Amino acid sequence: MTAPSPVYLDNHASTPVDPRVVEALLPYFTERFGNPASAQHRYGWEADAAVDVARRQVAALLGADVTEIVFNAGATEGNNLALMGALAVAAEEGRTHAITQATEHKGVLLPLAEWERRGQGSVTVLPVDSTGMVDPAAVEAAITEKTAIVSVMAANNEVGTLQPLAEIGAICKARGVLFHTDAAQAVGKVPLDVKAAGIDLLSLSAHKLYGPKGVGALYVRRKGPRVALRPQILGGGHEWNLRSGTLNVPGIVGLGKACALAAEELESDARRIAALRSDLLAGLRRVAGDLRVNGHPERRLAGNLHVTFFAQPQSVMRAIMQRVAVSAGSACTTATDEPSHVLRAIGLSEDDCRTSLRFGLGRFTTAEDIDRALNEMAAVVAKQAVG
Ligand SMILES: *Cc1c(COP(=O)(O)O)cnc(C)c1O
Repeated sequence: MTAPSPVYLDNHASTPVDPRVVEALLPYFTERFGNPASAQHRYGWEADAAVDVARRQVAALLGADVTEIVFNAGATEGNNLALMGALAVAAEEGRTHAITQATEHKGVLLPLAEWERRGQGSVTVLPVDSTGMVDPAAVEAAITEKTAIVSVMAANNEVGTLQPLAEIGAICKARGVLFHTDAAQAVGKVPLDVKAAGIDLLSLSAHKLYGPKGVGALYVRRKGPRVALRPQILGGGHEWNLRSGTLNVPGIVGLGKACALAAEELESDARRIAALRSDLLAGLRRVAGDLRVNGHPERRLAGNLHVTFFAQPQSVMRAIMQRVAVSAGSACTTATDEPSHVLRAIGLSEDDCRTSLRFGLGRFTTAEDIDRALNEMAAVVAKQAVG
């Protein structure tokens, strides 16, 4: 007999594909495998029509127009095109400065670091407070006449903090600066409206919202202002010349379906998941003693629970991770022992990092999963106590 699979509580890393998404996309591998660019025959038309449907589904979830959705391979690619593409255009008129904040994903921080390293411009990385929030007034104060773009994520992937997007969007609008948001963790989890929040560019990824891996989209505003980007991948001119390469039709169909489901179920999912999260937190206090919840107490993703344990040693974290699929929430407990830039930015000490875990609940997390995870953790703690 094989051991039962560990309970999956790592939905910030990736989510299982919803069976309804799998069902929708499967025919596009087999009978409807055409290239949407083949305009001469039915195989092409079918694929093209399916991409159109998906584009409408993605646009609808964001409050965008279909002409504003650029399909790609995920949020890392979207971040790179948004930042490098917008900076390349703005630099032609002498605007070479970008503003971001300390808890961004590496997919934002590293393209901007590269922009600086090549001597093309400068980047301001703003600090966050102990809850992980950036201060909109600090964003405003950092804007100069050289600033081209502000990039602030919608929801943090480690501690779940939601950033004040609408406030930052309004500031950017008033100052004539583009506003990009990496919304990989937020899309399908919290309501988002690109027009209401003044967002000009938004990156998303299907595998974070119960869709397949390796597919995503970038929202690119068309009006007020029309955002110009320099493409980073050149070729056949797909996706309005912004991202060449034959479209991943099954992936795109899956992303569209995932967005349509999220539009329907986001609120009920969030309510149910938040209740499970409270149960998990109460259980953790019982099982593991003194702890602190990291991130923002209210402005947070329903499924995120990031905890520093004060009564347990690092060895317990390692043992838990062998029985429950959670994340260290940092690289602290890996071989490199490098503290997470997110946890350091919110002020955790290296010791606190070492006894912190990230729990990520999702659409398919059940009450039984929470019970099983707590039982496993209780067993780990009991064994540790015995020595
Ligand atoms: C997962 C994630 C990404 C990367 O998305 P991919 O589609 O895997 O490239 C970027 N930003 C955040 C906040 C994420 O959570």
